[in-house]
Amino acid sequence: MRVQGIDKMNLNKKKFKKINLKNLVSNENPCSENDTHFIVHCIECNSPKLYILKNYTTGYCFKCDLAYFNNLDIMDNEFSLVDFNSTPKKTINEIVSLSSNELKSIPSKLTSAGERYLLKRNPNIELSRFKITSDNYKVTIPFFYLEKLIYYQNRYFANVNNKHKYYNPRITKKPIYHINNQSKKLIITEGVFDAIACSSFYDDYDFVSILGKSITKYQLWMIRNIRVFEKIVIFLDDTSLSKKLMTSIRNESFIQDVSFEIIESTCADPEEVLLKEIKSRRT
Ligand SMILES: [Zn+2]
Repeated sequence: MRVQGIDKMNLNKKKFKKINLKNLVSNENPCSENDTHFIVHCIECNSPKLYILKNYTTGYCFKCDLAYFNNLDIMDNEFSLVDFNSTPKKTINEIVSLSSNELKSIPSKLTSAGERYLLKRNPNIELSRFKITSDNYKVTIPFFYLEKLIYYQNRYFANVNNKHKYYNPRITKKPIYHINNQSKKLIITEGVFDAIACSSFYDDYDFVSILGKSITKYQLWMIRNIRVFEKIVIFLDDTSLSKKLMTSIRNESFIQDVSFEIIESTCADPEEVLLKEIKSRRT
């Protein structure tokens, strides 16, 4: 059961406190509660009117109007939590994209060298689906966000002097790579190829790569803006990193009714693990 109204109040106001909500609840003795909230004394006005969600993410004092947020490590100071519960408000035009000139450098077709590289890397890859193109040295993975081309990443497969394996064009805000299956369940991975490998393994999920081990508020917002996800599964190269990421998503977001799961890692990256698994199923 959900108490309508409490959870969405005051989120845009500046009047808030970050505090360890679990401690606050455990210091209250006795502590009253209803189905969804613990009810304790407000540390600002001392009225017994502070309602704290039972997942300890947020609280709200009905007497003095103060909003409370759990104080685990917060990535940046800008006060805005990414709301995972309500309808998206921003439009595709607010998404940071590379300029059309920069996007023109994407090769127009997939060469046979590129195709060979991709199939060697992942025999299950649906080549046409991801619109990956190439020249003789690299494959280029285009990033589509809500159907719009916004970014790309190059993976060099031939030895080219002074080139790293990956090339990420400069952009003011790090985007996500999204594979859209219109699902309400989402798997988050580090790399683009991890997301692609997951998509040949798990049915009925959307997939997002965050291009690294940590997520930015802008990336969270991009994820949130796709649709309301009911389940978020985290699958990074390392289980402790997955846990860390889950904590930061919880702290940076106004999340309710979203369940989290972590796929334990064996310290190889997900692409490697999944492709091994697929091979063993065949034999
Ligand atoms: Zn109060």
